[in-house]
Amino acid sequence: DSRTPLTLIGLGPMGQGMVKLWLAAGHAVTVWNRTRSRADDVLAAGAVWAERADAVAANRLIVLSLTDYRAADAVLDGLDLTGKVVVNLSSDTPDRTREAAEAVAARGGTLLVGGLMVPAPLLGTEAAYAFYSGPEDVFAEYRDTLALLGRTDYLGADPVPAQLHYQAQLDLFLTVLAGMLHAFALVGTAGVSAKDFAPYMRETLDTMSFYLDETVTSVDSGQHPGDLANITMMGATTDHIVAASEDAGLDAGLPKAVQDLYHRAIAAGRGGENWTALVDLIRR
Ligand code: NDP
Repeated sequence: DSRTPLTLIGLGPMGQGMVKLWLAAGHAVTVWNRTRSRADDVLAAGAVWAERADAVAANRLIVLSLTDYRAADAVLDGLDLTGKVVVNLSSDTPDRTREAAEAVAARGGTLLVGGLMVPAPLLGTEAAYAFYSGPEDVFAEYRDTLALLGRTDYLGADPVPAQLHYQAQLDLFLTVLAGMLHAFALVGTAGVSAKDFAPYMRETLDTMSFYLDETVTSVDSGQHPGDLANITMMGATTDHIVAASEDAGLDAGLPKAVQDLYHRAIAAGRGGENWTALVDLIRR
């Protein structure tokens, strides 16, 4: 039923965006948020407010969009979850996620873990997708409702994979974002604005999918032939980036972390291999 009534708890930008999509599609949505004023917009759009326990009691489907799973513990504290399906779209570690799945099950409910991969303005668009993991029958029951947020990529009955895929994507995303800022700061020491440097940065970002293909082959095969670019050459470049940053008075913590991987690979006698061999140091 595409009009499944549901409860959403956690009205940050993500929760508010979800509620508006579900309301627009004709779902009845009950909401609660710790800070009530954050509900103003969704109540104006047709959502119904209920206090915490009543909101959880109101529907079988409970969607959580919170800071982390500790916040979910606080929200569900002391409440009966018999027959409830809790879809937690909050970020946390795989270990915390597994503990939560067990805790919800012990209280008679079912946890479906989700990781939404777009910011609030892109919810419900072609670009939107989310990873889900948890019992397949429950996912199938609510697939159509969840699909209003974006494409649903189901990863199986174990609760952890959706969270792990989410964290892996954010690992990449946050590292690249920080790298962008570091590069802007470095070129900015010569008075170059971010706007003027951005076209060049875009060229680098656009070539990343080329490196992705190369990485896939090497990571999966364990073969790292260094005939085009090797760790010794790229490690020297990391020295130059760190020195340039320090000479310019910048925080060099970010390039130093990368430099450290290269130095350790060289010390391990792997300087002649492709940069993809760094994965072995990351894996310890
Ligand atoms: P916000 O940080 O804006 O909101 C967090 C929500 O958690 C608020 O509703 C807050 O309540 C609630 N909360 C935190 N601690 C508690 C607690 N102890 N008890 C009760 N409620 C609590 O979140 P976002 O909307 O930005 O994000 C929600 C989730 O979605 C996060 O896990 C985030 O990682 C993920 N996400 C966010 C994206 C984004 O672009 N923002 C993109 C993709 C995923 P209160 O209002 O009272 O503070």
